Amino acid sequence: MSTAGPGHLGAPIPANSPAFEYVYVANQRCDCGGYFAAVRQELHTLPSGPVDRLVARCKSCGAERAFDFDISSFFGQFEKYGRFHRVDDRFQEAMSCLRAGRLAEAAAALRQVVGPEEGEPAFAWGHYHLGMILLLQHCPEEALIHLERAVAIQPLEPDIHEGLGRAHRAVGQETEAQGHFHRAGKLRVRFDAREG
Ligand SMILES: [Zn+2]
Repeated sequence: MSTAGPGHLGAPIPANSPAFEYVYVANQRCDCGGYFAAVRQELHTLPSGPVDRLVARCKSCGAERAFDFDISSFFGQFEKYGRFHRVDDRFQEAMSCLRAGRLAEAAAALRQVVGPEEGEPAFAWGHYHLGMILLLQHCPEEALIHLERAVAIQPLEPDIHEGLGRAHRAVGQETEAQGHFHRAGKLRVRFDAREG
């Protein structure tokens, strides 16, 4: 089975700031369960636009993987280079609202976090938390969209498979739900064995 995520031999990953590229890489798991860290960066100018390639190494097993980012939304526009801090602030605010039980405010902030223009649409944890809140708000169809997006971005994260399983169950897709619960369990066993 392929575990290649978006940007891996596929379409470049959308990024709206350089800082997000590093956040994206740091959130990616290797097949061994370890997390990646960027080791070098290469700018490629393709006919379709500028692509930033981050070559990363797994912190556990040393495997290398390249991630290609579509940086056309900010490349050369220096006033946009530092804007990730606003997305990060919104995310932190959403997590505070969530802990305080203010779900509507948390959801509103997370919609901005994953917004295609001002946010970072490839931020999996933003989609994950938004999806989990939408489940609590009894909006399972919309929750499903965000949790599927989160799994597509970070396919080796047990918690995200668990959440997607719950969304499938909430819309009556029990077979798909069981598939994701099973996947979450398998990944936990595999990664715990590595860490233990
Ligand atoms: Zn590894």
